[in-house]
Amino acid sequence: MSSAMSSAMSRPMLPFAARAEGLVGSVIDSSTSLLHRQQHDIVRFAMGSPAVEAVPSAVLRQIGVTALGPGAADAYDYAATEGDPPLREALLAALRGTSDETTADRLTITSGGMQGLDLFCKIFIDPGDLVVVESPTYTNGSATALSYGAHLLEVPVDREGMQVDAMAQLVEEAGRTPKAIYTIPTFQNPSGATLSLARRHRLLELARSWGSMVIDDDPYGLLRFAGDPLPTLRELGAGDPLVFAVRTFSKIVAPGLRVGWVDSAPELQQLLINARQAMDTCTNLPAQRLLTGFLTGGHLDDHLVAQRAEYRRRKEAMHRALREHFGDIARWTDPEGGFFLWVTLENGVNTTELFEVALAEGVAFIPGAAFSPSGRFTDALRLCFASTGPERTLEGIARLRRAVDIVAGGSR
Ligand code: PMP
Repeated sequence: MSSAMSSAMSRPMLPFAARAEGLVGSVIDSSTSLLHRQQHDIVRFAMGSPAVEAVPSAVLRQIGVTALGPGAADAYDYAATEGDPPLREALLAALRGTSDETTADRLTITSGGMQGLDLFCKIFIDPGDLVVVESPTYTNGSATALSYGAHLLEVPVDREGMQVDAMAQLVEEAGRTPKAIYTIPTFQNPSGATLSLARRHRLLELARSWGSMVIDDDPYGLLRFAGDPLPTLRELGAGDPLVFAVRTFSKIVAPGLRVGWVDSAPELQQLLINARQAMDTCTNLPAQRLLTGFLTGGHLDDHLVAQRAEYRRRKEAMHRALREHFGDIARWTDPEGGFFLWVTLENGVNTTELFEVALAEGVAFIPGAAFSPSGRFTDALRLCFASTGPERTLEGIARLRRAVDIVAGGSR
């Protein structure tokens, strides 16, 4: 029985809104609480968090001494809904010269990337609307669309990201055009794949021909450690109001700050503000002040350089470990940045069943089915290589192989 079904059955008899049915929850996020409850040693490849060592906590603490200390009482007040002006300014400056360079009239500070996705759906998705999602996809994003009553159309992903021609075909078969196309174009969560330049152009072309919005959700783009950079969909869209870009500080600085931003057509800004004012008023001001200090202090660039080098080392370590322990029974992706690898088992083991056994063996991952609204990919799993150093990674992958062998009913 799925957890969604069991929670529905245990609900009290109350006059729920129809949309409560669409609140499907997140296997990914639930793993945080699950792992907190474990007492034994676990190598954690599950959550998409930056390495604890990679979070610039010493710099942030130092910034906090002045930005949040005595004499800075205004840092605990309500903030402007569109974002604290000093952070807005610092962010515009930090983005200058990047593929995400933008202007004040397009920028709205949000409480993380998830809020950007929620705001998008609140403004654009009516019950019954068709929304294209990648398959596999970041199901917190698809769950947001579901919570507004969307119908999802899963489009396969390969090494070059979403198969855009397959999208055209599937949309034709669906007999109606999508209201929105949800893509994670760069170092995709969960596959690590990057949408090729040709497909980026084609996706925008199709979106324009259908009048579909494009949700360009790109939290990992600044974490490229190999290959050539590609322009973001935001940049290629060149101000097209159909492109709604969702960004976050969660992966490049720290997820617990819960600060991100949306880059969208200027005409949407007042709507976004209105939606926020009926939601959470503003983004946490102390967190915005910490980030302002981080950006104006010139820390971001050095931080990103160090992070990219470290994540490259970690990805390579995970590849080495996979070659050693999984070479005979699996294949995996080779991302050029970001946090994730996608492993496909070729020996018939169901990764949802594998999860419990692996946890007992001391290693955590997210089963593939958690990345498909219709439960595809029971032969696959997502591994986050970013959170764990090379030696622990080797140990974790060895544990994972032991768990696979237990489930497969044999040992090597
Ligand atoms: N989109 C994608 C693709 C993500 O991977 C994440 C975080 N895992 C988010 C959005 C949400 O970001 P945040 O934590 O800032 O809400």
